[in-house]
This record gives sequence, C-alpha cells and structure tokens, in this order.
Amino acid sequence: MKNLIRGIVLKVIYPMLMLAGSFLKDRKERFQLFIIALNNRLVRAQGFKTKRILLLLPHCLQINDCDVRITNDIYNCKRCGRCEIKDLIGIADENNLKLFVATGGSLARRIVKEAKPEAIVAVACERDLSSGIVDSYPMPVLGIPNERPFGPCFNTRVDLTRVREAIEFFGK
Ligand code: SF4
Repeated sequence: MKNLIRGIVLKVIYPMLMLAGSFLKDRKERFQLFIIALNNRLVRAQGFKTKRILLLLPHCLQINDCDVRITNDIYNCKRCGRCEIKDLIGIADENNLKLFVATGGSLARRIVKEAKPEAIVAVACERDLSSGIVDSYPMPVLGIPNERPFGPCFNTRVDLTRVREAIEFFGK
C-alpha cells in the first residue's frame, strides 16, 4: 500500500508539480525538494532492508581542479582529501557497497541496470534527484540533495552524516 502511494506521488503528483513549475519557475526547485522529502518519508515508512545498496554520486562533488578521472572508475581517486570523494569511498568500503559517479540521467540508469541493487542512496541536485527517483520507481531510493556553496554543478558538497544514516537505514 505504501509503495502504491509512493507510485502515485512519483508518477501522478510529480508530473503535475513539474507542469506547475514550468509556469512558476522560482518554485520549481521547492516542488522537487517536496517530492524528494515525501519519497524519503514513504520509503522509510516501508522499512525495506537490504545489504545490496548502490551509492550513486554526482560528478560535481569532485573538486574542479582535480584531474583524476573518476567517472569510469571512482577508485581512480588518489584519496588526497581535497574533496568528499575520499570520504565517500571510505563510507562505501566500510559498508561493502557499490559506489558510482553518474554524469547524467542516462548513465545513472545504465549503472542501476548493471549494478542490480535492491536499494539506492543517491546524492544529486533537486532536479536530477527527483527525476532519478521517479525513473527508478519501484526501487526504494533515499535521496540526499547536494549542497552548492559555489553555485550549481561546481565543487558541490554533501552532508556525510546524512549519507551514513541513509545507508544504515537500509542496511540495519
Ligand atoms: S579526493 Fe583528491 S584525488 Fe580524489 S577526487 Fe577528490 S581531489 Fe581528486
């Protein structure tokens, strides 16, 4: 029943809000955030548990002047600690998770198809996160919006406590 309600939220209410957002552009991000928060609440209410979790990250978490290529293989990261990619690899290793960086929706979809997780913890901006959650339904996804102190798509950050907590939610 809760998954059906989530389906209605994602497949009916979300497109209606995005249509409204195309007229009320200054509210669109707020609508996306609302859908992410509602989805997270419904996923938590389902109480689904699994160890097969995929942690999906946006490329913009990598600091701009790092020339290591992490999109094909995040483990190319040298763990220098100048950005949170190092910490996120540590979190994935601690929890024995699959971890990928996606540069867009189509790559994210391919990663999900190949990794075959049972649940996803995803970090992205509100736009990519909300559309990714909708695309992935009925897969349970906990979405964590990134922080953008320097504006969109540039040296973004994420609250690592929220990432840890979301992984623990599915895994414990
Ligand atoms: S931790 Fe260092 S090597 Fe790894 S992605 Fe960030 S800046 Fe590059």
